[in-house]
Amino acid sequence: MFNRSRRTLARWFTLSMGSILVLFAGVIYYQRAGDRLEEIDRLLYKKARVMVANIDYRLRQGQDEIDLSSVPILGNYSPPVDSNIIYARWYSATGKLRQFYGSSPPAEIQVEAAFETIQSSVEWHRQLTLPVEQNHRTIGYLQIAIPLTEAQETLRGLLMVMVMAVPLTLGVISLTGWFLSGLAMRPIRHAYLQLQRFTSDASHELRAPLAVILSNAQVGLLSPVADGKPKHSRLEKIAATTKSMNQIVTDLLFLARQSEPLTAASMSAVNVNNLLKETIAAPSIQPFIQHLTLHLELPEAPVAVQGNSDLLRQAIINLLTNAGKYTLEPGTIWVRLIPQPHHCLIQVEDTGIGIPESDLPHIFERFYRVNEERTRETGGSGLGLAIAQQIVAAQGGQLTVRSQLGQGSLFQIDLLLW
Ligand code: ADP
Repeated sequence: MFNRSRRTLARWFTLSMGSILVLFAGVIYYQRAGDRLEEIDRLLYKKARVMVANIDYRLRQGQDEIDLSSVPILGNYSPPVDSNIIYARWYSATGKLRQFYGSSPPAEIQVEAAFETIQSSVEWHRQLTLPVEQNHRTIGYLQIAIPLTEAQETLRGLLMVMVMAVPLTLGVISLTGWFLSGLAMRPIRHAYLQLQRFTSDASHELRAPLAVILSNAQVGLLSPVADGKPKHSRLEKIAATTKSMNQIVTDLLFLARQSEPLTAASMSAVNVNNLLKETIAAPSIQPFIQHLTLHLELPEAPVAVQGNSDLLRQAIINLLTNAGKYTLEPGTIWVRLIPQPHHCLIQVEDTGIGIPESDLPHIFERFYRVNEERTRETGGSGLGLAIAQQIVAAQGGQLTVRSQLGQGSLFQIDLLLW
């Protein structure tokens, strides 16, 4: 139980911290990519401004005269060695191509936005299209581009670092989570064990005085009835109440001592066919089921499970006792053993009064009784199913129930085969 809670805590810790880490890594990556692009855009704009400054423009007889011969890259000079401009184009005010450097461009200007990232199969580049104005009038467009190779490589490097660092950090986070959840579970485990010890000690201590009360009442009952009828019936009441208190104390002691899963050493191969045959013949359950018809349905081949036969017998006795207590005459009880590929099902079905749907999720809780009225008649304490479930869980199995009010109930134990 504690290990399961520890695992759940550690898993949630890793999941939440991991999500924060991945989100954080994503934000850093996109922030870095944005910064780099901004740097490139600034550089591109600076280069474009220098080129525009060298354009020689004159208005002669109402006609634009544009001389690009002094413009770096586009003009007569060969481009400087350190220039990383891959193309430069000059388009007229009407968008027609007039002059270019680099790969052959489209004859008409195609612009989506001032700055654009052009993705080609060879490489990615960043393009700037700058409208050039004179006397508040656009006289043409300058379009230049530089490659994004260097920025891409920087970002690829960052991504690689993140791809390696994130799983590594996740590993460290999960180890820390496991360690921290262990620390968090320590006081809870301590408190739980203390409570278990208290229940066990208190039950143990109560057994002795109860035995004394019972034996005194039983001795009193041995005296002749003529001594006084009221006194005699009071003694009978004391004896009956003490017996039921004794049962509760025994059950509590059992629950306190059997709270952990069984160790491999305390389990062995249990032949379920024989176990069921013995259990239905047990004298302790006869008073509960003798008014009913009981059918035992067993497969021909023996079925063996890994468990503790005494405990399993106790769980089945509890189910059978309930089936008997809550089934009126003439009713039927079926006890079935159904083998499955890797596990087996033990079913106890009755045609009894059934359990309301709203009570089904609670009936395995300690001291839970469906209806005080009907339990008062049968004398239950609400511990029988809690014990049965604890026994089945301790052997790695599952106890489930299906029931319909007024129709009957089916309790099913699911156990792994040996
Ligand atoms: P109890 O000792 O009161 O029977 P249990 O833990 O064995 O306590 O059962 C819890 C409640 O579940 C009971 O109060 C009873 O109302 C209901 N219950 C258990 N088994 C059956 C059954 N076979 N048919 C109808 N009700 C049942």
